[in-house]
Amino acid sequence: MEPYLSIVIPIYNEEENIPVLWGRLSKVLAEAFPDAAKPWEVVFTDDGSRDRSLAMLVEIAQTEPRVKVVEFNRNYGQHSAIFGAFAEVRGQVIVTLDADLQNPPEEIPKLVAKVEEGYDVVGGWRQGRQQNDSFFRTMPSKLVNAVTRKTTGVKLHDYGCMLRAYSREVVNAMLMCKERSSFIPALANSFAKRITEVPVAHAERAAGESKYGLWKLINLQFDLLTSFSLLPLQMLSVVGIFIAFLGFALFVGLIAYRFLHPEGTVGGVFSLFALLFFFVGAQFIAFGLLGEYIGRIYQEVRDRPRYMVKKVHGAK
Ligand code: UDP
Ligand code: MG
Repeated sequence: MEPYLSIVIPIYNEEENIPVLWGRLSKVLAEAFPDAAKPWEVVFTDDGSRDRSLAMLVEIAQTEPRVKVVEFNRNYGQHSAIFGAFAEVRGQVIVTLDADLQNPPEEIPKLVAKVEEGYDVVGGWRQGRQQNDSFFRTMPSKLVNAVTRKTTGVKLHDYGCMLRAYSREVVNAMLMCKERSSFIPALANSFAKRITEVPVAHAERAAGESKYGLWKLINLQFDLLTSFSLLPLQMLSVVGIFIAFLGFALFVGLIAYRFLHPEGTVGGVFSLFALLFFFVGAQFIAFGLLGEYIGRIYQEVRDRPRYMVKKVHGAK
């Protein structure tokens, strides 16, 4: 039977969390989607765990035919792990969540209901984070949210929350993207017509420690910035124009000074500065232009689908 609902969970060294996670998840699914009208499946990706996670997942899959495990040969990161599961899911509604019980599985039916209302992407918006996470964990994600809002133009509160639901079409579109580094929430939004957020509860990590160090977070931020905009490259030209203008203004100022104070002496070093500014600015503009071409090449090689046709109406 084709599943209707697919749950995707990336797993990296989560042996302490898997039993509780599976217990709560299977209970929710059994209660909220009991009938054959909405069959479900769960796809775990084992992202190269070094502990007993994989063995535990395989054990679950042996007793429950609706569970699948995608085994990676090494650790590729959370977003790659989710992609690995996306390639396997067959449901019409796809929900992702973290394994560490920070995202309560009990919220899944709420997200599914929103997709059924006609939304393509439903994001979870974590409530009461401040008390749960440290400053160093919330501050970077506030930054991530701000930058993502700017680069993607979609105003969501919480891009970092991975408790999210997607329609089949959006997942198909994401699967057609050939790029290597991708930030799933932002990518999904670029293919969605209707996007919404629902408040979800947020708990502390149940056990084990966060798989995201500062470096991984910084990397993720760079992925985000470079995957969704050419802004950094375009800034080069802007900076160049600004510096060149400064040089030019200084130059004009010097000439004006000469005329107004013919007897005064201005050191030649100032004219040199004016020239220097001008040429440095010109160089930056040139970099920016080069960057513009490189950016376009980058966009081409990413080979994202330019559009996705949902349906052709009026055709046999
Ligand atoms: N994860 C993964 N591969 C990684 C890092 C994390 O599959 O390289 C999974 C991890 O097992 C968890 C989810 O991604 O299910 C979120 O990770 P974590 O809780 O460490 O992130 P945080 O909540 O600290 O942002
Ligand atoms: Mg976590």
